[in-house]
Amino acid sequence: MALIVQKYGGSSVSDAQAIKRVAKRVVATAKAGHQVVVVVSAMGDTTDDLLDLAGQLAASPSQREMDILLTAGERISMALLAMAITEAGIPASAFTGPQAGIHTDAKYGRATITALIPERIARSIKDGHVAVVAGFQGINDFDDVTTLGRGGSDTTAVALAQALNADVCEIYTDVDGLFSADPRVVPAAHQLHRADFEETLELAAHGAKVLHLRAVEFARRYRVPLHVRSSFSDKEGTWISDGPAKQTLRGIVPQVALPSSKEYSVEAPIISGIAHDRSQEKITVVGLPDRPGAAAKLFEIVASVGANIDMIVQNVGISEQGRANVSFTLPEADARRTLQAISDAKDELSYRELLDNREIGILSLVGAGMRTNPGVSAKLFGALSEAGINIEMISTSEIRISVVTNLDELDDAVRAVHTAFGLDASETEAVVYGGSGR
Ligand code: ASP
Ligand code: MG
Repeated sequence: MALIVQKYGGSSVSDAQAIKRVAKRVVATAKAGHQVVVVVSAMGDTTDDLLDLAGQLAASPSQREMDILLTAGERISMALLAMAITEAGIPASAFTGPQAGIHTDAKYGRATITALIPERIARSIKDGHVAVVAGFQGINDFDDVTTLGRGGSDTTAVALAQALNADVCEIYTDVDGLFSADPRVVPAAHQLHRADFEETLELAAHGAKVLHLRAVEFARRYRVPLHVRSSFSDKEGTWISDGPAKQTLRGIVPQVALPSSKEYSVEAPIISGIAHDRSQEKITVVGLPDRPGAAAKLFEIVASVGANIDMIVQNVGISEQGRANVSFTLPEADARRTLQAISDAKDELSYRELLDNREIGILSLVGAGMRTNPGVSAKLFGALSEAGINIEMISTSEIRISVVTNLDELDDAVRAVHTAFGLDASETEAVVYGGSGR
């Protein structure tokens, strides 16, 4: 008997029919002799619809009330799913995040889990019930409900899997697993059978939308094996773990067994996948005085508005002697207030001009094998130049190279690089079952 946490995203529970299908799968897992804890997202586009409604009533609604509103979405799906599972033959009980013992800090809208005491969940599964938990929510020290940020149900699932010492956390979504690139952009993308936490973290951080970044961070920290798979098929998905030694699977049925250690010993490919991100902007500060402390002051201002910057490039003396141009990328969502803060500090910074480019895209090539394989960047730049794509900025980590391109060239860039690194699948095309990839 294994303890399995299954998380179903909004597209997997979009209507009664879909909920029935999920209930069937949960019941089949339970009938195979496993204990099952289910974490569920709000049905379909419920969260977006609730956000929309609030937007019609207030320009900037109170964050506390916003969280009360948004947590209602998951309450609906958890109650309905518990009813459907019971109807399908295994008793199920629904729990809100607070009832499941998920405690958070008080940052409404983007709360962090501070403690998890899943006593009621543990009791419920011991009694032979399936426990159905509302994703993406918890309770703070003021007894208010909080949400974990968009896409936060993945994090609920991984945290529960860790706290309950589950054998595996299955993330059910509308694609078959992680892919070498977004199948919507690269039809020849192939499914990854396994990936390690670090690679998955880099892919998730740079635009791959299948997993919530915080969930991957959590899974990596606590070595929670993840299995990302489709709720629309029975296919094996992508296993995310750090190799066989750390997992001791207590007799899980073959269809959910981790790949054997033999498969791990096969040398990993150099490149696992390509992520892309259309949601970044590039800000350029032109004519900053080229003297010590100028960049420090600029980035102090950027940090003070809480902007999350990624790449930074400085060119000295190109447009003017004694002056430098500094460019950096950041999420669109942070750009407006960052531009405002820099322009408010124009006198203090004494730059000449402030430029903003929304039409950029970022391509990131990720692979653990990069560590030991030279020549990856040469090949990347070669592929892009052959495709006639101009590179504006570059940044690297040990297992990633990211480049900034024009937004309208991004898709071509992804396809060209995918082909150049031999990632194109020879056989079947990737299936996208619809929805957003969550
Ligand atoms: N329903 C929430 C959202 O749409 C949480 C989740 O789906 O993970 O962001
Ligand atoms: Mg979602």
